[in-house]
Amino acid sequence: MAQQEDIFKKLIAHCKEYGFVFPSSELYDGLGAVYDYGQQGVELKNNIKRYWWESMTLLHKNVVGIDSAIFMHPTIWKASGHVDAFNDPLIDNKDSKKRYRADVLIEEYLAKIEEKIAKETEKAAQRFGDTFDKVQFLTTNSRVKEHQAKWNTVHEHFVQAMKDPNLEELRQIILDCEIACPISGSRNWTDVRQFNLMFSTEMGSTVDGSLKVYLRPETAQGIFVNFLNVQKTGRMKIPFGIAQIGKAFRNEIVARQFIFRMREFEQMEMQFFVRPGEEMSWFNYWKEVRLRWHKAMGLGDAKYRFHDHDKLAHYANAATDIEFAMPFGFKEVEGIHSRTDFDLSQHEKFSGKKVQYFDPEWNKNYTPYVIETSIGVDRCFLSLLAGSYHEEAVSEEGGTRVILKLPPALAPVKLAVLPLVKKDGLAEKAQEVVELFQFDFRCQYDEKDTIGKRYRRQDAIGTPFCITIDHETLLNNSVTVRSRDDMSQERISIPALYDYLSPKLSMKSLLTRI
Ligand code: ATP
Repeated sequence: MAQQEDIFKKLIAHCKEYGFVFPSSELYDGLGAVYDYGQQGVELKNNIKRYWWESMTLLHKNVVGIDSAIFMHPTIWKASGHVDAFNDPLIDNKDSKKRYRADVLIEEYLAKIEEKIAKETEKAAQRFGDTFDKVQFLTTNSRVKEHQAKWNTVHEHFVQAMKDPNLEELRQIILDCEIACPISGSRNWTDVRQFNLMFSTEMGSTVDGSLKVYLRPETAQGIFVNFLNVQKTGRMKIPFGIAQIGKAFRNEIVARQFIFRMREFEQMEMQFFVRPGEEMSWFNYWKEVRLRWHKAMGLGDAKYRFHDHDKLAHYANAATDIEFAMPFGFKEVEGIHSRTDFDLSQHEKFSGKKVQYFDPEWNKNYTPYVIETSIGVDRCFLSLLAGSYHEEAVSEEGGTRVILKLPPALAPVKLAVLPLVKKDGLAEKAQEVVELFQFDFRCQYDEKDTIGKRYRRQDAIGTPFCITIDHETLLNNSVTVRSRDDMSQERISIPALYDYLSPKLSMKSLLTRI
């Protein structure tokens, strides 16, 4: 675990050093849980968004996009339930004065028990080798049974307390499980209180005439309130989806995990409208499609898993998360929810206008059911960095190299063009190559320092290919193409470069892997 924490620290430092992510307002000592993306970060982020957008709107003929405003009529948030129920249960430790989410403290406690069971199982598997029977072990080993029984009891109480919601019961679970504050080590807890996560501000210039508006806590509602606009103007037939990418804002209570939990972040959401009764098969369909999208990035299939929700929101009839193995454990990157007809029905009720669909085949009106896929751009960004960060010993030169093995199509810089030396016309020839690709790939020209150091700089930002211009280039118009991951080098003639590189670098190469 300490090793993992170390990696996480290194990752944060790496993001800063190479222009991926900076703390916001750093000159003024930062602003809690708000971050800025730097010159490399913004490219990676834009590439992630393009990958998602095209996977939705190019690969699915019945999914279209919109871009709705951040400010919306405040009644929308009443209708959606956010004004009354978008709360997190918070608890303070009286000694450290640190604030925590009560549900997260309990979830972490449960995760620790799961870890213990996994460790016992792993040890036994090693001891018994081929004869190991996992099911038998889990059901008969006394230590594991004890852990499991504890887990079951706590879990059952927890799910019920969250469902009710029962704040005293949540506190009681924390006390019963003897959960201590990680900072002070004490169990001196306050009561649990509900805290609404929405930011609000005033719209309008006069005191009397101003309207309290919210910064949207999710992009989804912008899609629901445009359902009829898009359906009618696009002559869309059910099933169809509406996709949107945009900023969302939540006044998170605990925000200590870098860009994993921010107060201003970006979401990529898609609401897929289906016939009532057909939602479960579409839910399963989107689960699989979305998992394939993640796996296509090539970080390793074992780094992903589904986590079905124990506590369903009152409007949902199924929900699962896609979790990624972050340096601090498996964590949610995307949620897939079957939201029934809740949102559209609520908007019909609160607006007083009919929000329904006429199905020509069924020859009747109904309120469509909705499957939502909701992924955070920033969490996807973090998963990519965590999954692609490698430190490797470099034998010939001694020392280590740090590489970001990003999917080539998503890398901020696709090609580095490096003249071996500045003189003898090599620099000019290198500039010609940069210009040759200026409409196709983001190229970086670099002539400073030894070639080895320049390779290292490109490895550290994940550039998939370095093109080296040497004296032979002037003789036969060929260059050396060096691959980031295995450092192999190939001699390729300049006219053949585009055909060589394009299939490896294009967004199409990634989209076809889904
Ligand atoms: P969590 O339980 O971690 O708070 P959530 O279940 O509230 O997340 P959703 O409301 O389902 O999250 O939001 C959909 C997606 O938006 C999440 O899967 C995540 O990727 C992203 N997201 C939500 N909150 C944040 C945040 N504070 N910072 C960054 N990304 C976020």
